[in-house]
Amino acid sequence: MSSSANSFLKRRISRQSVIQWADNVVTVGGDAPVRVQSMTNTDTADAIGTAIQVKELARAGSEIVRITVDTPAAAAAVPSIRDQLDKMGVYVPLVGDFHYNGHTLLKDYPDCAQALSKYRINPGNVGQGAKRDVQFSQMIEMACRYRKPVRIGVNWGSLDQDLLAKLLDENAASSHPKELREVMAEALIQSALQSAARAEELGLDGNQITLSCKVSAVQDLIAVYRDLAKRCDYSLHLGLTEAGMGSKGIVASTAALSVLLQEGIGDTIRVSLTPEPGAPRENEVIVAQEILQTMGLRNFTPMVIACPGCGRTTSTYFQELASRIQTYLRHQMPIWKKDYPGVEAMNVAVMGCIVNGPGESKHANIGISLPGTGESPAAPVFVDGIKVKTLRGDNIAEEFQVIVDEYVKNTYRA
Ligand code: SF4
Repeated sequence: MSSSANSFLKRRISRQSVIQWADNVVTVGGDAPVRVQSMTNTDTADAIGTAIQVKELARAGSEIVRITVDTPAAAAAVPSIRDQLDKMGVYVPLVGDFHYNGHTLLKDYPDCAQALSKYRINPGNVGQGAKRDVQFSQMIEMACRYRKPVRIGVNWGSLDQDLLAKLLDENAASSHPKELREVMAEALIQSALQSAARAEELGLDGNQITLSCKVSAVQDLIAVYRDLAKRCDYSLHLGLTEAGMGSKGIVASTAALSVLLQEGIGDTIRVSLTPEPGAPRENEVIVAQEILQTMGLRNFTPMVIACPGCGRTTSTYFQELASRIQTYLRHQMPIWKKDYPGVEAMNVAVMGCIVNGPGESKHANIGISLPGTGESPAAPVFVDGIKVKTLRGDNIAEEFQVIVDEYVKNTYRA
């Protein structure tokens, strides 16, 4: 009846990297579950604001949080951010996102280099020409010195221009030239693989390298990662870059990531949503969790199954109940997680009428079927497939919540 994270999806075999802060060890790749990560959008130099947002992302379930480290002020603030998080008991690993000047910042701010649990290096933004290898090498040397894993994160929008120019020249001279997007895809992959090989040559443990090749179009992302996955065994971070706002961003990310995850590709994911005014940053964490949970890859919080409603629904009461129950379950999770192992796999059905209500309710751990038009004003409740009660009157929501609480306590008690 309950859905649990399952093993029917065969994962690509990858090396495992270890990201750590204090006693919190987060493995990525190998037999680790697909990890959820996110990124702050605060000015990192604002240590308090950044620490608060990191805490919120971590509390929402982000297992790794990336912060921009772009200026000396940002690098100087990192140890203080780490300190504040530690004082709040938030030991989520922090990843420093470096572009252009990472080699200098890591060298000049050793406390920052130490306080971060991982470095993200964009090979397209570490310098051009002769400087490129020197500056990349300096960053890898810091990773080796501080024993930090690295994500080599290539991005369509900031490709290594020397490599791209070389591949374009070769393509122009070829008797079977490829389309521009294919050449760019190859440049992305080669940039990631060559950088990883160079990092290993410089002494970085290959297990500690994660790769990403982000693009903003769904089909391109799928094609790039399929190819990348075949050509290496590094752990892979998935994300559709610049996915967009609102439903467009959610749908595009879900479409791209789901195809790849279904094929076993991807060891960690981020859903990059352009924040809508007033929307909490944690939304990207919730969407990432929901992608993994609806695909049966992981369980994070009890799921509510609700029908969309139609002309048979007498009011919006059942949608309100579904929303209320989903919010309640999510808020209860931090408490339940400690005391009721497995509760995150629970399913709750909230249905609008007799057509699919009882059937769907019987398939859930707990289900309620509210009365539709022409039905008697009664809401049968099903527990593990059996009708146990019929609720009536004005307090259906409260009474249903009590039934959910009792079920959790009786079924999942450690
Ligand atoms: Fe409509 Fe009933 Fe189906 Fe809900 S369960 S969509 S109310 S027919």
